[in-house]
Amino acid sequence: MTTTLITGANKGLGFETARQLIAAGHTVYIGSRDPERGRRAAEQLGVRLVVLDVTDDASVTAAAKTIEADGGLDVLINNAGIEGRGEGNTVVGPADVTAEMMLSVFETNVFGVVRVTHAFLPLLQRSATPVVVNVSSGLGSMALVTDPDTPAYHYPGVAYPASKTAVNMITAQYAKAFPNMRINAVEPGFTKTDLNGNTGIQTVEQGAEIAVRMAQIGPDGPTGGYFDAAGPVPW
Ligand code: NAP
Repeated sequence: MTTTLITGANKGLGFETARQLIAAGHTVYIGSRDPERGRRAAEQLGVRLVVLDVTDDASVTAAAKTIEADGGLDVLINNAGIEGRGEGNTVVGPADVTAEMMLSVFETNVFGVVRVTHAFLPLLQRSATPVVVNVSSGLGSMALVTDPDTPAYHYPGVAYPASKTAVNMITAQYAKAFPNMRINAVEPGFTKTDLNGNTGIQTVEQGAEIAVRMAQIGPDGPTGGYFDAAGPVPW
């Protein structure tokens, strides 16, 4: 039996990842920062809920205690994330980005990943087949964002891409440090969710595919990599 926690899973890609992993036989906990939104999603999926705000130490520690008491964790999917749009729901470009705005995006997308991973590491280390999936983005790829022939090149924002580049680095460093674990970053692709005002071109079913696949890799699978549904993504 594989036990899996997905952060930010009350909607969007996290919710769909939960749905697909339940179908694949995982015992799933969904994390939601809002108890009521979480309760509704957990009821719909038929899974357990942990109230977990990735920016809040106490909530992360409490969630880890709950899951530890229930029997432990095999797979952690760091999915919770924000884009950090500005006024009028627009992407904040270099002329307007502030340190404060960067900090709030990093608080969730970067420090949140570290906070949650740190809290759950002791549980993962007790699993026979520990797996971590960090939900990054193609916008975190230095190679893509600097290549004029890619859609990523034309994204004007600063905070979100920088936060996902940091997620990629965190993934690489953790993967080297914990060779018994499979730790990878994934790029779901541009997916229709609230994150982008539902402007994405893929369905959540398509977007969740790579996280679902990487959540199920065995001990012989890759670690320290960066993948989308088609294969490795250039860093
Ligand atoms: P979404 O529909 O907006 O869902 C984001 C989820 O993260 C929500 O459940 C949200 O909870 C949760 N969340 C935000 N801040 C949180 C916090 N502090 N603590 C706990 N949960 C928090 O967006 P999505 O597209 O599914 O995004 C999921 C992941 O995919 C993100 O990491 C995103 O960067 C990544 N991604 C998305 C796309 C895309 O095109 N959609 C592409 C590449 C990567 P609330 O409901 O409480 O706000």
